[in-house]
Amino acid sequence: MRQEFLPFTRPAINEADIQAVVEVLRSGWITNGPRNQELEQSLCEISNCKYAVALSSATAGFHLLLKAMKIGPGDEVITPSMTWVSTVNMIVLSGARPVFCDVDRETMLATPESIRAVITPRTRLIVPVHFAGAPADIDGIRAVAGNIPVVEDAAHALGTYYKGRHVGSDGTAIYSLHAIKNITAGEGGVFCTNDAALADAVRLYKFHGIKVDAFDRENRGRSPQAEVFDPGFKYNLTDMQAALAVSQLQRIVNINRKRRELAMRYRELLADMPEIRPLAEPAGYAFDPAWHLFVVRVDTPHMDRDTFMAELKKRNIGTGLHFRCAHLQRYYRETMGFRPGILPATEYNSDRICSLPLFPDMRREDVDDVAAAIREVIAR
Ligand SMILES: *Cc1c(COP(=O)(O)O)cnc(C)c1O
Repeated sequence: MRQEFLPFTRPAINEADIQAVVEVLRSGWITNGPRNQELEQSLCEISNCKYAVALSSATAGFHLLLKAMKIGPGDEVITPSMTWVSTVNMIVLSGARPVFCDVDRETMLATPESIRAVITPRTRLIVPVHFAGAPADIDGIRAVAGNIPVVEDAAHALGTYYKGRHVGSDGTAIYSLHAIKNITAGEGGVFCTNDAALADAVRLYKFHGIKVDAFDRENRGRSPQAEVFDPGFKYNLTDMQAALAVSQLQRIVNINRKRRELAMRYRELLADMPEIRPLAEPAGYAFDPAWHLFVVRVDTPHMDRDTFMAELKKRNIGTGLHFRCAHLQRYYRETMGFRPGILPATEYNSDRICSLPLFPDMRREDVDDVAAAIREVIAR
């Protein structure tokens, strides 16, 4: 058994990252400033979009998106129930109704068919998730969406390519820089789009609804007067956070390559354990995933997922659960009347999934330890 606990994830922070943050602390300008601008520039380059707005979280990005699109009571927003609850919460808080599409049972991605099945005349927005860093079929989804806007939840997908181009390249995508994501700022998010009006609105509502922020006033000779155009929020990112993300982004290729190597090793070692089923790759289009998570389904009548996680923990191996489906969580069940059985593939996975340890500083031998522990646990 392992002597030392292996966490499910750990941020990849190196000396250069630490130096970058320290430099900001010494610089005299610690909230949003030059490092935020660099972060936005880097995101435009990496994700191939025209406009990027750095924010305090991806959740803030969804909030601002709904505000900018004036989505509210009477509107419906389609998203998978197999997602992080933040998106669903923002939809509900806007006054709109979340409408859940099912996912493919083997990839856990929303599909054009599953989305088409729930579109109504009230649908205002569709938010597919690039789950675990594998891209949803955005072209197919756009085709069924017609004129309804599609915004990609790319929280897992910085460094994910779909048909040879970065996800979000020809539309709008929201990235997360939360501590467990592939690239982190501790907390943070980036709203990326090719739509100038949408970018302007998100930038306006990000900072109180005034058009010129403190850095602009201080450094670009703008008027010292702040003027509210339309009341907004306060969702800016500090330069300490932006500097950390900028520093990490310089090695995104290596970070994601390391994740891929570990994932390939998992696949190899789990191949002869039919009870533990990794997700399948999406079929029908070329893609290159960011390998944000390594998700398996515990699919045996002899052991449930929660026991599996507890048994691994006894063996000093941490795991995660991404995600417990949203529609069966208490608030949504009770206020919106969702019942078990309405989203069969989502519920099948919600009951069985578990995320195995995967982070860039993990060694190949750590993967071997996890596989050996799994073998022992399922043999019991
Ligand atoms: C992490 C995550 C979010 C939210 O990101 P924050 O930066 O924590 O707000 C949204 N959607 C998915 C799928 C996520 O995993």
